[in-house]
Amino acid sequence: MAFILVVNPYVPGQVKQDKVMNMGVLTVASALADEVDVKIVDHYSNPTRSISEWFDTDTQVVAFSCSGAESYYTSLIEARKIKLGYPDKVILMGGQHISGLFQSGILPVNEVAVDCFTPGPGEISIGKIVNAVKKREKIPKVVLGEDPRKIYSLNYSLYPDWKNLIPCVEIGRGCNHSCNFCNSENMRKISRYICRDVSEVDREVKTIVDYYGDDTDIFLFGSIFGENTRQTATVLNDLYEFAPRAKYTFNLRTDCQWEKFIDPLEKLKIRSVFFGMESASKSILKKMNKSRNPEHYIERSKMAIKKFSEENIPFFTSFILGYWGENQDTINETKCFIYKNRDCLRAIGVNRFYIYPGTYDFDNVQELSHVYGCKIQYLDELQLYSILRQRDFTGEEIEKICRSIEIDCNDPDYYEKVRSWRFR
Ligand code: SF4
Repeated sequence: MAFILVVNPYVPGQVKQDKVMNMGVLTVASALADEVDVKIVDHYSNPTRSISEWFDTDTQVVAFSCSGAESYYTSLIEARKIKLGYPDKVILMGGQHISGLFQSGILPVNEVAVDCFTPGPGEISIGKIVNAVKKREKIPKVVLGEDPRKIYSLNYSLYPDWKNLIPCVEIGRGCNHSCNFCNSENMRKISRYICRDVSEVDREVKTIVDYYGDDTDIFLFGSIFGENTRQTATVLNDLYEFAPRAKYTFNLRTDCQWEKFIDPLEKLKIRSVFFGMESASKSILKKMNKSRNPEHYIERSKMAIKKFSEENIPFFTSFILGYWGENQDTINETKCFIYKNRDCLRAIGVNRFYIYPGTYDFDNVQELSHVYGCKIQYLDELQLYSILRQRDFTGEEIEKICRSIEIDCNDPDYYEKVRSWRFR
């Protein structure tokens, strides 16, 4: 029996690709589990089933966790279906995309299929909404998340088919950088930056080993891994002590101080490190606010990929093309970097720039498109912008350049090995 269903929405074209749990869904469900009967619905893996098939006689609340624009779109379709057939069910919608819409002031508050939008962290706010539903109180259309001030321990067994999915450990929340295309910085206005205590990370890893065995895959989740070098080195040393046979995946910035934790890192089995390098053009990196010192950033990035490649640490590097002010020269700079380092960069993702709600770029889109002479298009259903045309390229041409670099520079087997371990 479940009073609340927490839904991992389906994303068109990605079905069954991901092997990692949806952290947002599991975090909320774990926080609620002591107070109320909660069930996670993995619609992502079962898109042909209707959400109502999971209803039982107790079900009163359905909460969608929309991590991106695509899952928001599919969630809205499902929410409308539920409202038609079951008008009394209370429908909540939260997740990173909803937080972005809130930050940019474009939450669709007139949407009748959604009873309440829950931007920001949901651990506390959704519990309060559930209590209000139980007392038959009126629910406001928007309930802003409360800063949880800590990261809750996860209950992995709540996740359907958990044995076949990769468990995550949240290392930290938020980011101490302010890239203009990313909404992590904006999230700080709702919830503060959290660097999790090493002892809590250790406890969570021990729980995972109890559940999954000591040779499991583990995703260390958080944008700030590697930023606090002392925390990172201690965590990596502890992992070697508690779970030396596990296989780890995590994100790092290419300019992080990896020298300070490369020794413990080398001792571990690494499934994949994700580097979001974004560009190798100094002027584009500056416009992105990716680094205050783009020259140093590119130099550090080169050193990181060389070292990780020499040490046989599998990694995946992603780039963005078509940013504001991108032109033939800046694209050549990034292409040159990739082709020169292609022996080290065996798995890359090159993606066209889209402008997501909650980012600096979204909030200043009209001014930026004017300054850089770009023609932009608002994609209504997804609530984001694309650049249709800029000085030297159309959006479609950028798309083609991205695909051709990916085809040219990826080692297909290696790419599959490190890229398929995606996270959400
Ligand atoms: S892109 Fe990465 S480093 Fe930049 S703000 Fe976002 S999470 Fe932080």
